[in-house]
Amino acid sequence: MICGIDQIDTSAKTVFLRVDFNVPLADSKITEPHRIESTLPTIRLILEKSKKVIIASHLGRPSGRKDPRFSLAPIRAYLEQRLGETVVLAPDSIGSEVEKLARDPNSRVVLLENLRFHAEEENNDPLFSRALASLADIYVNDAFGAAHRAHASTAGMAAFFEVKAAGLLLQRELDYLSRVLITPEKPFTAILGGAKVSDKIGVIKNLLPKLDVLLIGGGMAYTFLKANGVDIGRSLVEQDKIPVAKELMANANTNGVKMLLPTDHMTGDEHKKNPSRSDVNIAEGRMGLDIGPQTIRQFIEEIGRSRMVLWNGPVGLFEVKPFDQGSKALAQSLADRRSDIVSIIAGGDTVAAVTAAGVADHITHLSTGGGATLEFLEGRELPGIKALEKSA
Ligand code: AMP
Repeated sequence: MICGIDQIDTSAKTVFLRVDFNVPLADSKITEPHRIESTLPTIRLILEKSKKVIIASHLGRPSGRKDPRFSLAPIRAYLEQRLGETVVLAPDSIGSEVEKLARDPNSRVVLLENLRFHAEEENNDPLFSRALASLADIYVNDAFGAAHRAHASTAGMAAFFEVKAAGLLLQRELDYLSRVLITPEKPFTAILGGAKVSDKIGVIKNLLPKLDVLLIGGGMAYTFLKANGVDIGRSLVEQDKIPVAKELMANANTNGVKMLLPTDHMTGDEHKKNPSRSDVNIAEGRMGLDIGPQTIRQFIEEIGRSRMVLWNGPVGLFEVKPFDQGSKALAQSLADRRSDIVSIIAGGDTVAAVTAAGVADHITHLSTGGGATLEFLEGRELPGIKALEKSA
């Protein structure tokens, strides 16, 4: 059993809040704040009742060393503006200066500097966990995006607290993703895309018994098409995954799942230029870079018959126009059917594709997890969540 933050008393206490503010930055500007925005309700709830909140996150891969390129300074500024309250950036995540700030009654919101400036974070070092834990009375984890990692600030430090809970975002993620695995609305359709089939094998295996329809697009579709003897030109392919692709198609059949692969494509040359439409067989030298208009129609028809749709992985090279059209059309169709469909979008690229299509507000749930979402959907236990259990 995991406690939600709404079930614990945080009044007059200092709360340590682990978040996932690992957001993309360009020239120190946040280019996609979805992860921060999703955590604001938890921070606001803590601030309503508690004495103080100490917020901690990782950012990028600074390799266990202090590196100003990965400072949380831009996040401090963003947070302060969104909360309308002073946010103090601590010079580090542990140490005497940080302890002083943790006790200072004048600063109610303290943001610790990047946890990954210490190698001990990713090594799940107990001394580092203890030092972090000493800063607060209560532990709240809202970092779903980091829940699949057994790190000091996720799995490690929870053990030092009597009172620990999941934040509102973590609860929401678990509610929606558990619903996918346990009580999906039927008909239930999954759209899987992205570059590699190897990343999605576990998810497909775990979802097949629950699914009604499986729509495959993106680069990963070409391994399945090749397994069916289709000419795929120079499209992405994982040769060594052809046997497993065959096995998954047979499993879909046994489970009575209607599995659709692209029947036409938008292709490009080896430089991903000169777009043109292709029927199912792709000419030599050409690359399949998006689903074609006929496939878009077929996929939208299936979406139209569904009550729940889970989508992970763009169905084309959405960063390069016009190969964003397939993902855009599917995003639009989910938005059009928003009153009839529970739509769950998982993975940073898919969230970016839906946001670029301008329909993010019409999706039921945009998951903040990438790897964490995939591991959850594979049916694996996430260490960051396990650590919140009462007996852990
Ligand atoms: P993944 O991390 O496996 O979900 O892959 C996401 C990436 O796959 C994005 O950068 C997409 O642009 C890319 N992608 C999707 N479809 C294709 C395709 N047909 N060919 C090449 N890259 C693709």
